[in-house]
Amino acid sequence: MYHPLSDIGAPPAVYRRNAPPPPRTEPLTRRHVDVAVIGGGFTGLSAALHLAESGSRVAVLEAKHIGWGASGRAFGQVVPYLKPGQAEILRHYGPERGEHVIDAIGRGPDLVFDLIERHNMACWPVRTGLIFAAHSPSGERGLEERTRFWRARGADVDMVEGRALADLLGSSLYAAASIDRRGGNLNPFGYARGLAHAAVAAGAELHESAPVRGIRRENGRWLVDVGNDGLTADAVIIATNAYSTQLWPGLSESILPLRGHGFISEPLSDNLRRAILPERQSLTDTRQLFSGVRVLPDGRIHASGYGPILGPESIVNPAAVSERLRALFPALGDLRWTESWSGWVAMTADHFPRMHELAPGLFAGLGYNGRGIAAATLMGRDLALLVGGATDTRTVFPLTPLQPLPWRRAAPALARALVEVYRVRDAIDELRFRRARNSSHAR
Ligand SMILES: Cc1cc2nc3c(=O)[nH]c(=O)nc-3n(C[C@H](O)[C@H](O)[C@H](O)COP(=O)(O)OP(=O)(O)OC[C@H]3O[C@@H](n4cnc5c(N)ncnc54)[C@H](O)[C@@H]3O)c2cc1C
Repeated sequence: MYHPLSDIGAPPAVYRRNAPPPPRTEPLTRRHVDVAVIGGGFTGLSAALHLAESGSRVAVLEAKHIGWGASGRAFGQVVPYLKPGQAEILRHYGPERGEHVIDAIGRGPDLVFDLIERHNMACWPVRTGLIFAAHSPSGERGLEERTRFWRARGADVDMVEGRALADLLGSSLYAAASIDRRGGNLNPFGYARGLAHAAVAAGAELHESAPVRGIRRENGRWLVDVGNDGLTADAVIIATNAYSTQLWPGLSESILPLRGHGFISEPLSDNLRRAILPERQSLTDTRQLFSGVRVLPDGRIHASGYGPILGPESIVNPAAVSERLRALFPALGDLRWTESWSGWVAMTADHFPRMHELAPGLFAGLGYNGRGIAAATLMGRDLALLVGGATDTRTVFPLTPLQPLPWRRAAPALARALVEVYRVRDAIDELRFRRARNSSHAR
C-alpha cells in the first residue's frame, strides 16, 4: 500500500515564501537526552517547546524537514471544535470528561494565538473568527443548535443572515451562517517554523533528515535507531500522525491516512480583495467534503477541494473548485490557479483523537481527523506533561489503549466508497440549494 512518507512534494510555496526562515538544526550525533520526539509537526514541536521550557533536554527527530507533514500543508483554520459535535463528545467520554474535552478544545485557539504572540511568530495570524455557512436546511439547523450551545456558555458565537451575511462574505450565495469569533486562520507552515524557533530558543535541538527506523528498550533506556546515528532517551514521544511508520506494533494500523488537497489562485485585483471576505475570516459550509475558502494576506484565494484520497501524489483538475468559486463570487470570473498540493489527514474510526502510553516512558498522540492545528498543539503540551509525570486527569484527552482500526484491510476501499457517497450527496444538496436560492432571488 502507498505510504504517506513516500510523497516528494514540499509544502506549498505560498506558505514557504511567507514563513519565518528555517530554524537552527543540528547534525545528529550519538548521545543521551531526556526526551526524544519523533516528528517535526505541531504535535512534536509543541511537545518539544513545552518540555524545553520546563528544563528537559529534548531532541526532535524529523524524517524530512520541520513542518514537512500535514502541519505545513493544512488549510489553516484554527478551530475550537473536534470533528464530532458536543452531543457525541459527551456520549463518547461521559458527562464529566466530555465537558472537560469540550471546554479545553473550545480554548484551543487561545493556546495557539497566545503562543504566536508570545514568540512573535510571523505566520499570518488572523483572529477575526470562522464562518460556517449552511448549505442545506439540516445544515442550518445544526449550526443554530451549535450556536445556541456556545452562546449559552458565553462564547462569542452568532448566527448571521441576509444583508449582514452578504457583506461579511462578499457573496449572496448563503442565507445563513454561524460566526465563531474564538477561531481564526494562519499560515500553518509559518506556525510550525515559529514553534520550532521557540523550541530552539528554549533549548530544544532539532534534527532534520533523521528518519527513525525503530525504538527499543536497552539497559533501562530507550534506544532510538536512526541508522548510524541514534539517540538514547529516558522517554520518547511519537508525533508522526498520518505519516506514522511501523515504529510500534499497531500504531500505524490505528489510523487511516486520507489525502486532502489545497489550491492557490493568482493575486486578486484590489477591488476584489476589498469585496471578498473583507474581514479575512475563513469560510466553510456544512457539506461533508472539503469546502474551505479564504483570502490570504497576499491577496490570493486559497480553497480546499476534492481530489484522490489515497495513492501517490497526482495533479488534480481544479474545475470543481473553479465552479464552486464562481457560484460563490461571480465577480471572480475565470480564476487562474497557480499552485496545488496535498497532504495526509489521520482519520480514526470514531473521529476522536488518541493519546497513548505505549510502554513506560513511550507516548504517542495522533488522529486529529483534519482538526489538528489547535488540537495537536494541545496534545503536544499534554504529552510534555505526561513525560513530566502528570496523570491524564490534567490532559485534554484520556490515555487509551492502542486499538487497530476495525476493518483495517478493507478501510481504504470503504473510505473511498464513503467519500463517493458524500460527493454525490454534496452535489445533490448543492443543486437543490442553488435551485432554492435562485427561486427565492427571482421572487
Ligand atoms: C490538506 C490538509 C488540510 C488541513 N486543514 C486543517 C485546518 O484547516 N485546520 C486544522 O485544525 N487542521 C487541519 N489539518 C490537519 C492538521 O494539519 C494536522 O492534524 C496536524 O498538522 C497534525 O500535526 P502532527 O504534528 O501531529 O503531524 P504532521 O504535521 O503530519 O507531522 C508528522 C511528522 O512526522 C514525520 N515522521 C513520520 N515518520 C517519521 C519517522 N519514522 N521518523 C522521523 N519523522 C517521521 C513526518 O515527516 C512529519 O513531518 C489539515 C490537514 C491536511 C493534510
